[in-house]
Amino acid sequence: MDREGRLSAAVRAANDRSFADASTARALVALPPPPEPVAGCAACAQLAALRSHARAVGDGSAETDADVLLARHRRQAHERTRRVFRYVPFVIAQDPSALPEYEARCVSGDEADCGASSGPCRGPEEVEEWQRGHTRETRHLRYRRLFADYAVLEPVMSRTGSAGATDRPGGPGGTGAGVPDTPPRT
Ligand SMILES: [Zn+2]
Ligand SMILES: [Zn+2]
Repeated sequence: MDREGRLSAAVRAANDRSFADASTARALVALPPPPEPVAGCAACAQLAALRSHARAVGDGSAETDADVLLARHRRQAHERTRRVFRYVPFVIAQDPSALPEYEARCVSGDEADCGASSGPCRGPEEVEEWQRGHTRETRHLRYRRLFADYAVLEPVMSRTGSAGATDRPGGPGGTGAGVPDTPPRT
């Protein structure tokens, strides 16, 4: 990328030496069109202003410099973000074919944790039942609870709007977290 940028800058600089007009050089060697500023971006606007000033005063090399800077800025500030979105067209959903697991481990004890565990359970009620029983037997009162489920990434097939728009339910502890937002395949 950078090497490419430097290379095209060198090409342009060489052309600037032969041709006074940078846009003529661009047309002759079929360079890509000059980068456009992204609307609403202050950095883009600044570089575009720099370029139009250079163009206005006929400073071809300053114009080329502004082009290079604007192209680099676009790559770094704008296109990278877009690329990330393009490469994540997945929805993360709870795997309905694997049951979630609930578990509690007793962490009561002064020096060391008791360590007694319910083992994997099918639901929170089962875990609570084990906790009550363990507390009745030992008077232990403090537990660490675990919840585990399986998640699958499903490619986004046809969604209106940008593919990067992630609107899956979330939020810590929310019951909606991990619920598939696409209908199950039939
Ligand atoms: Zn910008
Ligand atoms: Zn215990």
